[in-house]
Amino acid sequence: MAASTVRTNLDGKPLNPLTILMIGAGGFIGSHLCEKILQETPHKILALDVYSDKIKHLLEPESLEWAGRIQFHRINIKHDSRLEGLIKMSDLTINLAAICTPADYNTRPLDTIYSNFIDALPVVKYCSENGKRLIHFSTCEVYGKTIGSFLPKDSPLRQDPAYYLLKEDDSPCIFGSIEKQRWSYACAKQLIERLIYAEGAENGLEFTIVRPFNWIGPRMDFIPGIDGPSEGVPRVLACFSNALLRREQLKLVDGGESQRTFVYIKDAIEAVLLMIENPDRANGHIFNVGNPNNEVTVRQLAEMMTAVYANVSGEPALEEPTVDVSSKEFYGEGYDDSDKRIPDMTIINKQLGWNPKTSLWDLLDSTLTYQHKTYAEAIKKVISHPTTS
Ligand code: NAD
Ligand code: UDP
Repeated sequence: MAASTVRTNLDGKPLNPLTILMIGAGGFIGSHLCEKILQETPHKILALDVYSDKIKHLLEPESLEWAGRIQFHRINIKHDSRLEGLIKMSDLTINLAAICTPADYNTRPLDTIYSNFIDALPVVKYCSENGKRLIHFSTCEVYGKTIGSFLPKDSPLRQDPAYYLLKEDDSPCIFGSIEKQRWSYACAKQLIERLIYAEGAENGLEFTIVRPFNWIGPRMDFIPGIDGPSEGVPRVLACFSNALLRREQLKLVDGGESQRTFVYIKDAIEAVLLMIENPDRANGHIFNVGNPNNEVTVRQLAEMMTAVYANVSGEPALEEPTVDVSSKEFYGEGYDDSDKRIPDMTIINKQLGWNPKTSLWDLLDSTLTYQHKTYAEAIKKVISHPTTS
């Protein structure tokens, strides 16, 4: 990008370079957001995380044109006095830090609640006290289950969007009972949303809340036994990628009947850049960011990923590519599921004019091409020498 080009926002106002504190910059979304900001804007990033592997390529080579515009701070926000100073130095704080893999919600509920609520509190407080803008990452999971999920299976009302479409300013948040610890994450995210909203109402905090709807793409999570723990359970894209790479069956939890909409990470990141650069349009809003056109059941996702991966790898699919497992067996006690997640796009469309572009097939094609290039050789080595890995 040419830093000298005069860039303007959606209202035609010239954009001044910002200093952005990105907490959780070393994660999946953070790594893509760092790339986008460095490649297409003149903004400076203070990248904060406990890990930097996914942004190593942005930090190392001094020769890159953005050297000097990204600075990495290895900090755990749970206990580090440098946090307030970094917030004060920045024009905007973006908080992505969280425990956000469902396998943790029912097995590590305390860590999940602390990470998503308690650890986020000082970030909100310092932004509010210092008059700094905050973009906070929440989740589509705050909606929980749809109203329609409580109707009889054969009710025609289940086809009526009024019973399933998820609207920021209208839909209720419907979680399961307390012993269904799956909802510890959603509940903690809901409470931090309410706190941020209240800071806005009572103390004038300038905030934007993002509710991602299953953003997927390269660098999401880890492949167990390769760049993450062998026993670890990442989110569905990485679980299915791992099975495909190892030529194992894809596990369908409780029949794979749950429905999801998947959006390509590169589409979703464009929405975040619009929020960053259009505060007058984004402040005070909660935004769904997803692709309502990319809805599938988890079973359909498994079938599509199997077909795409056969194309990408040139290896034929297994005769029986999937196997059913119970949620208790896969996740343990206390798991529960969101039945269906279709984002209403009215608000983001009206405020920022954003629309997702990439079809599910195309986004799986580029993502599985990346997975194959990145992991296929390493997996082959592990399979042929299991003890030396
Ligand atoms: P991720 O796990 O890849 O990234 C989170 C990053 O935060 C990690 O790099 C982690 O090391 C860092 N982090 C966690 N705790 C920290 C701490 N105490 N101090 C410093 N760094 C810490 O997850 P992601 O997919 O990039 O998600 C980012 C945010 O978006 C999360 O808040 C998540 O809840 C939300 N979200 C994402 C999705 C999605 O589709 N990817 C869906 C819903 C919500
Ligand atoms: N799932 C599955 N097999 C797997 C991993 C996940 O059937 O190997 C299901 C999971 O039960 C859920 C959906 O896939 O219904 C999406 O799971 P993910 O971990 O991506 O997170 P979620 O969308 O629930 O936040």
